[in-house]
Amino acid sequence: MARVLFINGGSEGHVNPTIGVVEELISRGEEVVYFTIEDFRERMEKTGATVRTIDGQKFIKAFISGGRNYLLERINGLLLTADIVISSVLEQIKGEHFDYIIHDSMFGCGRMLAQILNLPAINSCTSFAQTKASFDKMLEQLSQKIPVEIYDEFHRLTEMVRDKYGVEVQSPYEVFCNPAPLTIVYTTREFQPFGEAFDQTYKFVGPSISSRLKQENFDLTALEGKSLIYISLGTVFNQAIDFYKLCFTAFDNSEYTVVMSIGEKTQLSELGEIPKNFIVKNYVPQIEVLKYTKLFITHGGMNSTHEGLYFGVPLIVIPQSADQPIIAGQVANIGAGIKLEMQSLTANQLREAADHVLNQPSFHKAVATIRESFQKSGGYHQAADEIFEFRG
Ligand code: UDP
Repeated sequence: MARVLFINGGSEGHVNPTIGVVEELISRGEEVVYFTIEDFRERMEKTGATVRTIDGQKFIKAFISGGRNYLLERINGLLLTADIVISSVLEQIKGEHFDYIIHDSMFGCGRMLAQILNLPAINSCTSFAQTKASFDKMLEQLSQKIPVEIYDEFHRLTEMVRDKYGVEVQSPYEVFCNPAPLTIVYTTREFQPFGEAFDQTYKFVGPSISSRLKQENFDLTALEGKSLIYISLGTVFNQAIDFYKLCFTAFDNSEYTVVMSIGEKTQLSELGEIPKNFIVKNYVPQIEVLKYTKLFITHGGMNSTHEGLYFGVPLIVIPQSADQPIIAGQVANIGAGIKLEMQSLTANQLREAADHVLNQPSFHKAVATIRESFQKSGGYHQAADEIFEFRG
């Protein structure tokens, strides 16, 4: 038995794929101490992990204070979270021994903590992976437009973490992608853009999907036998009242039953009258709902995309931000769905796109192929195998 320090931030997308991995590690005898924010305590405690928390409010505040307009500002934001995460984690594990660390690919300053604690490190990558070369190229392309003060701030912050915590940050890539000797990527090499560019330290284990029924008050039996469309923009970029109303117009009085998750930041009362064929909630048990779904209208978050395809559901992807346009592109490339633009979207267009995807056999064929490759890929079992192989 080994003791594992697991460092994560506090968002659904980065936590959910780790649930199965942690459960699996514990079932194979590991002891896991898992850092996240309070909101995910219950979910992670169910895995058998010992959960400890960092202050979610302070964490988000620090991250956002880096700025939102440029990628390098987000990187500065991640560096600013060092003061919230590092001292808190070090204080809470004082005097304890760990054999290795698994850290998120973005949040939680995992690479820095691995260096401070001098532990073998595994990167838990919940989005597409990036090589240093491709990341640097992207940053360079963006860099002509980045104001010089943002670079100055990056250098000031790297000096700060060096002086305070004794860690050398060599590049923005290290902060944004937290590279480690082993990276577990929760997709397949085939679905990963330029999958062949990654060396053997990247293990593409496929989607890590485990049941996590959190909401008992959702009546799944009401979905049985229905021609079901599920709509969600995920848990982050989901404040979109106009879009939700547009969905009402698109599918009101149709043969479809529609489940729509609107996120915690929008009140049901803000949406006006809800059509009879809609079930609208702030949060739904997505994994369970997808088992009944015929078409998923999604923002193209990495997890939602994987979860939909894993259950053989074709997608209409309407990307909002972050890596979503790239994910939407991959879905369209493999023929498992189509991409629509939020800004120019009309109710008619959405309705026509839905009819098209549902009735065109080519989408179902492509989805069946990717579904099979996802289900074969191993997911969290494979992740645990790779972790055991690495830790020896
Ligand atoms: N999710 C859910 N119920 C909801 C909305 C989202 O269970 O009503 C889960 C979903 O299954 C996925 C995660 O939240 O695992 C969202 O992650 P994703 O990467 O798709 O998007 P993000 O929220 O990070 O933008």
